[in-house]
Amino acid sequence: MKIGFFSTKPYDRTYFDAANREAGHELSYFEAPLRAETAVLAGDAQAVCGFVNDTLDRAVLEKLADQGIRLVTLRSAGFNHVDLEAAEALGITVARVPAYSPHAVAEHTLALVLALNRRIHKAHNRVRENNFNLDGLIGFDLNEKTVGIIGTGQIGAITAGIFQGFNCRVIAYDVAPDPDCEARGIAYVDLDTLFAQSDIISLHCPLTPQTRHLIGTEAIAKMKPGVMIANTSRGAVIDTPAVLEALKDGRIGALALDVYEEEGDLFFRDLSNDILSDDVFARLLTFPNVLITGHQAFFTHEALTNIAETTLGNVTSFEKTGAAEHTVSVENVV
Ligand code: NAD
Repeated sequence: MKIGFFSTKPYDRTYFDAANREAGHELSYFEAPLRAETAVLAGDAQAVCGFVNDTLDRAVLEKLADQGIRLVTLRSAGFNHVDLEAAEALGITVARVPAYSPHAVAEHTLALVLALNRRIHKAHNRVRENNFNLDGLIGFDLNEKTVGIIGTGQIGAITAGIFQGFNCRVIAYDVAPDPDCEARGIAYVDLDTLFAQSDIISLHCPLTPQTRHLIGTEAIAKMKPGVMIANTSRGAVIDTPAVLEALKDGRIGALALDVYEEEGDLFFRDLSNDILSDDVFARLLTFPNVLITGHQAFFTHEALTNIAETTLGNVTSFEKTGAAEHTVSVENVV
């Protein structure tokens, strides 16, 4: 099948070209993100492949349908950016990569938490400038701290296990508790209890209408003063201006982000010569106790290999049977 890839980087080509040696599809790569005005690039392709910050609202899906696109295959697990109702109405199948490497994201979460807690980002810069002063670098032992995991799916469950390896007490909240997690000693509690007891809160739920701004003023008021929050799920699970206020007065003690509400205008690009127009993001960067990476938690060799193979597998199964292997539909939204 002919597939148009949007928002591509050189590494996408490397991994997709390698996977395609076996799959044998016709791949066209576009650097441009998928928007109403770029949809036309797909030309006579029958499928398009999008990433997390591509626009897949009704207007874009209508354009794609008009061009004859019958399959939108996402090279991501999250599908919150797709208007699934519109896709269904237009007869477009939507597929994704449900699990490419939950370990990659879970391990990156711990990398952020450890680096932030021990201020490795600051220490690294200091040592490079021959400044061996330790002021401002004090962290805390993870040992025996309480970690609250919100969303114990594939990534959350692995993250919970790694925290247990640090001898943390892990509690969790999920709309669908996992008996395997319970068997491993993870106690499910209600959200208010999780907020009240956690020293570290790690977010691993999808972005849905129920989880949008889950971490806002009301939730923060229920948390332990000085709590650390880590978000490697989706930016809008956090109400960023509310979190910013809580960072200013110390109610939130540390914030680790791999995702950001308005990341669509920032991430995956080199903007080092541009003026940063997002004042909220600019303010976040001023805090010594905020550590941000630009949506790189998934970015491992294993994950990129799985993403390419599973995406092309979706296309192959759609071509052969009319149904992709890993479809998402309105019913998938909790
Ligand atoms: P998953 O579907 O396996 O797990 C999600 C869990 O969240 C499920 O157990 C589900 O029951 C739970 N959940 C749903 N609604 C909830 C709610 N309202 N409150 C609490 N829990 C709720 O997904 P996953 O593979 O573990 O991924 C989790 C999220 O991580 C994805 O949705 C995606 O947004 C994000 N992600 C980020 C990156 C990255 O690079 N930063 C990479 C992959 C995935």
